[in-house]
Amino acid sequence: MTIFNQSHLVMFKSSKGLAILIALSLFIFITAAQTLHFNTDRFTEPEETTQPEVVEEVKMPAPIVYGIATDSFEIVETVIERGETLSEILSSYNISPTTVSLLASKSKDIYNVRRISANRPYTILHLRDSAQTAQYFIYEPNNVEYVIYDLRGDLNVTLEKREVKVSERALAGEIKHSLFQSIVDAGGSPQLVNKFADIYAWRLDLNRIQPGDKFKLIYEEKEVNGTTIGFGQLKAAFFEHQGDSIYAIGFDEGNGLGYFDQKGQSLKKAFLREPLEYSRISSRYTMNRYHPVQKRYKPHLGTDFAAPRGTPIRTVGDGVVLEARYTRGNGYYVKVKHNKTYTTQYLHMSKFAKGIKAGARVKQGQTIGYVGSTGLATGPHLCYRFWKNGKQVDALGVKLPSANPVEKKHQEEFAALKEQTINQFNAIDVKSAKQGLLATGEQKEPAGA
Ligand SMILES: [Zn+2]
Repeated sequence: MTIFNQSHLVMFKSSKGLAILIALSLFIFITAAQTLHFNTDRFTEPEETTQPEVVEEVKMPAPIVYGIATDSFEIVETVIERGETLSEILSSYNISPTTVSLLASKSKDIYNVRRISANRPYTILHLRDSAQTAQYFIYEPNNVEYVIYDLRGDLNVTLEKREVKVSERALAGEIKHSLFQSIVDAGGSPQLVNKFADIYAWRLDLNRIQPGDKFKLIYEEKEVNGTTIGFGQLKAAFFEHQGDSIYAIGFDEGNGLGYFDQKGQSLKKAFLREPLEYSRISSRYTMNRYHPVQKRYKPHLGTDFAAPRGTPIRTVGDGVVLEARYTRGNGYYVKVKHNKTYTTQYLHMSKFAKGIKAGARVKQGQTIGYVGSTGLATGPHLCYRFWKNGKQVDALGVKLPSANPVEKKHQEEFAALKEQTINQFNAIDVKSAKQGLLATGEQKEPAGA
């Protein structure tokens, strides 16, 4: 287990709730000693109320809520109603609009009160005076963070974070129908399926996976107060397709987690196959095509993708922009040099993306411009051209090189991680794992290694 955020105030909802219940029953004892008519049996056995040892509980301190001792406060816990403002909420607790606007301006850089939104929980700690004057307003924008608005004196606003517990988990299963359903059935979230699919999409045609193919995943699960808030990193995955085992071992060489197979090869290609995410190929690379504008047959040394004007165009690989300019034939176009061997070009753009000019460094998948019909074009489309060793080739036919393998200087470290990961996977039995999550817990040493 690792700790993401060191919490200033470690507090769990369940224990908070219990403490509030205790405080509540104590309050009832003190104030209504003789005529106990409260329905407390939801919380305690009715008989217990007459037992003398209950008196000892009176000595128990008031609960600490969000790190605040509540001895002299009443606690109100509820959620923001639709359309409700902070000013409206606090006006019921003797806080003037002037104070609220002062608070709002103080809070601006910490947590803008305008971001307070419906259905999120909040807590008010107020005095036991007749006006129920609020002393604290605590708001939870999400399950991890909470904002303490201290309404006393000079007003104070702090943003705090809860402890996020990260535990390592594993799941495994066999493809029944779809990849999506099979992983979800094994206990994975849709987000985890997407991540898994992203990693393997480079290596496998995910439409062609078959019943009986096997998968195993090792991933981090994030929890706050015992509630899952999502997965952290997908640390490693295993996929067996038609008897071929493809490992995806997450390894960080200093640029974030990349995924490598058991040979240390990247699962990624150096280039995306297509520069548009969703599009239709309207004209392929050919040596002989009737040009719709020039009205004659000539080679078409690119691939045309029909797409609506404004569709983002991605550079297919990392590189440096060689040209970003206009010519009569190409319209607005961008040419990217990826390395000594490969160069790509994108034509007929409506405009360039921000910062795209000659000399700019670009990353694979980065938007470099938008589909248009500038230059010699009959309608909005992208003409995409691919050079290998100075010669134009068919981008859809060329065998794309893999992204860089594990660097030499990291190979020893990778080998150790690989061995550990493969042992972990070997310990996971696909058949018995079908029911759901397998906690691998904090173990550093894989079972049976
Ligand atoms: Zn074209």
